[in-house]
Amino acid sequence: MAPVTIFWFRRDLRIDDNRGFFNALTQHGNVLPLFIFDTDIIDKLPDKSDRRIAFIYEQLEILNLAFAKKGSTLLIKVGKPAAVFAELLQTLEIGAVYANGDYEPYATTRDKEVKDLLAQNNVSFHLFKDQVIFEKAEVVKDDGNPYTVFTPYSRKWLSRLNLQHLSSYPSELHLYNLYQKTPSEKFDLAETGFNYQPSGIPVPSINSNLISKYDQTRDIPALDGTSRLGVHLRFGTLSIRRLAVAAKELNQTFLNELIWREFYMMILWHFPRVDDQSFKPQYDNIRWINNENHFEAWCQGRTGYPIVDAGMRQLAQTGYMHNRVRMITASFLTKHLLTDWRWGERWFADKLLDYELASNNGGWQWAAGTGCDAAPYFRVFNPWLQTEKFDPQHKYIRQWIPEIDSTDYPQPIVDHKIARQRALDAYKTALNTRE
Ligand code: FAD
Repeated sequence: MAPVTIFWFRRDLRIDDNRGFFNALTQHGNVLPLFIFDTDIIDKLPDKSDRRIAFIYEQLEILNLAFAKKGSTLLIKVGKPAAVFAELLQTLEIGAVYANGDYEPYATTRDKEVKDLLAQNNVSFHLFKDQVIFEKAEVVKDDGNPYTVFTPYSRKWLSRLNLQHLSSYPSELHLYNLYQKTPSEKFDLAETGFNYQPSGIPVPSINSNLISKYDQTRDIPALDGTSRLGVHLRFGTLSIRRLAVAAKELNQTFLNELIWREFYMMILWHFPRVDDQSFKPQYDNIRWINNENHFEAWCQGRTGYPIVDAGMRQLAQTGYMHNRVRMITASFLTKHLLTDWRWGERWFADKLLDYELASNNGGWQWAAGTGCDAAPYFRVFNPWLQTEKFDPQHKYIRQWIPEIDSTDYPQPIVDHKIARQRALDAYKTALNTRE
């Protein structure tokens, strides 16, 4: 029998317009689709009913159904990827492995390990650009250095964009080249140590009406004015090329947000140290107070600042928080409570369904003033003014804090003016500290 070509699904859980899958299917017959529940990642998730795992599981079922119709099946494994490949090399004759690129530091290390192992066994490993329009160093300054400011990056991004970047890779039309295998027993999620409860995440749909009005509605948290597609971009259940085509046609502001996503991915790729260090190193001199009671109040949505608490409760209850409120809550934690941005970043990472390292890190460092192209540190969001501007009738606040008018709702845990001054002093001191 001819050797199999493995297509390894990672953050691209869709059949249509999947570039790596398309390349595997059009260059080879006998393509065996594989997904690995990577224990290096999932063992770190504290909630054993994590809805993101349930969502992945649901997507695998969808893939499996489609493959079964073509006489094939999705191979699902649990373990460390290199160990899984070592085992597969023993049981299958593998000609090549195909996948789509992933730019996070952990993924880069993992892929190198797998690539080396495969090379030792004379198996080639092919990665394709799929989750972004521009990757790595494709959009850099004329001198080849990476941009660290968004506006010129976005200008260059737009000037480089052409139809070729947006054209699709119709993998869905080539499923006849899948490896023919009768489905084995149904995969049981319990093998991963997680319980299954339906994720409740709807299938992705590009709402043209919403996107065309995005610039007018996106900043009001009480409205359904944003796409809610973050989770689908995160897991690749929607093609970025399809979304970018719609964005380009319908709304420049929306397209700009997709460029922010790529900007932060580009930053993480060029500066992997931002994962746990401030982009601007002198900001690592800030003397955070890190009061655990205050952090707990922030996590639980009991700071006495209604717009902050509403956001934190929306996050805890739904796994989502509106972007405007992400900025307000992150600013409040780092500035008003002088808590290390890494604490908040971790909390969001555990809770957000659309959690994505590059954007989360970028968003946190922006709010803390420690990042590239960040808000200047002396710009401290005033939660009361933000409320007046973006939730003037307290619709969003009332939705998440039913007891807002009762004595059950706490008094503010810090005074805005005093906390603001304390933050300014701490930042100033840090910036005057010599290394
Ligand atoms: P829409 O407003 O409809 O935007 C469409 C898409 O554009 C989003 O799905 C997202 O992929 C991208 N996008 C929009 N705004 C941004 C932005 N500021 N930065 C990068 N990409 C953007 N986004 C994540 O995808 N994952 C995260 O973990 C994440 N953490 C964040 C943490 C903080 C502190 C802040 C301030 C922002 C964070 N964001 C994150 C960015 C943004 O808040 C979310 O992308 C957005 O709220 C998701 O909702 P939506 O899909 O309705 O977005």
